Amino acid sequence: MLVALETRKLRLRHPLVTAHGSTTHRKIIEVTAAEDGFQGHGEAAPLPGFGLETFSESLTALQNWVKNPNRLPDAPAARSAAATAIENLEKARSSIAPTSGKIAVQALVGSSESSSIESEVSHALNQGHLAIKVKVAASDTKTDIARIQSAIKLVGSEAALRLDANGGWSLEDALYVLSAVDSDDVDLVEEPTANPLDWKKVNEETGVKIGADEQLTNESQVHQLIKYGAAQTFVLKPSVIGGPPATRKVAELARTNDIDILISSFLDGPIALRSARDLAIELAPNEIHGLGTASLFIDKFPADVVPNNGFLRCP
Ligand SMILES: [Mg+2]
Repeated sequence: MLVALETRKLRLRHPLVTAHGSTTHRKIIEVTAAEDGFQGHGEAAPLPGFGLETFSESLTALQNWVKNPNRLPDAPAARSAAATAIENLEKARSSIAPTSGKIAVQALVGSSESSSIESEVSHALNQGHLAIKVKVAASDTKTDIARIQSAIKLVGSEAALRLDANGGWSLEDALYVLSAVDSDDVDLVEEPTANPLDWKKVNEETGVKIGADEQLTNESQVHQLIKYGAAQTFVLKPSVIGGPPATRKVAELARTNDIDILISSFLDGPIALRSARDLAIELAPNEIHGLGTASLFIDKFPADVVPNNGFLRCP
């Protein structure tokens, strides 16, 4: 197997503000694995604040893998890219039909001043999204409550409203903000605080369902979350947790423990988005996934990974 690496930069239309800070662009390492005239692609794009390696560490890890393709990189983003490229190469070589169908995807609204929330949520609804995720916990709790209430009013029964605090609230903040809204109006909140031991209390006191995301970094952490009863939904980012094989493994653990799963982009480029789309169709075809991120970029993505009327469709 021959492996080639190429780096590229994708620019976001607007800075995406979360509790981890502001992101303006994504630096991506594209991986091509080739053998016997077939090719498989993968992609690594680490981002600060998610327990991943840096971009240069990822590049070094992949360069070492190029020299010795029998040993997958240990660094999580690099490992995910390599595992994805290998799986896609195997798919290309096999006679299995490519994934077909479509998957519903949510729109993402960044956490900025409340003035823009109305236009962003209205735009997402007009685009046909069945779920809208609003980033919270990047400013004060009063602003969060105002933004959430504006979003609830606009969304009504047209779509599901999801929140993502990226671990940015204290337990007190989480209880304060979520108690101020009707739990029936919020589909789930991702990572309300940085400590998953808080989450059961947040769920029990506010009635809002909890999604685990950044905390799902490795298998022992997954087992801890299950043991704590911390979350009702696991948000799985294949480009962070080790590519398709690792995602299937965590999805199976979730299923046997009555935990729902959603597949999510990590502000991914086209290759990782496509791979995540296919996994979403395979693992949870009836959910609304976090894969509507292509439209956040200035750079033009291929049509099969750009939301069309709230869905991604296989070509
Ligand atoms: Mg999240």
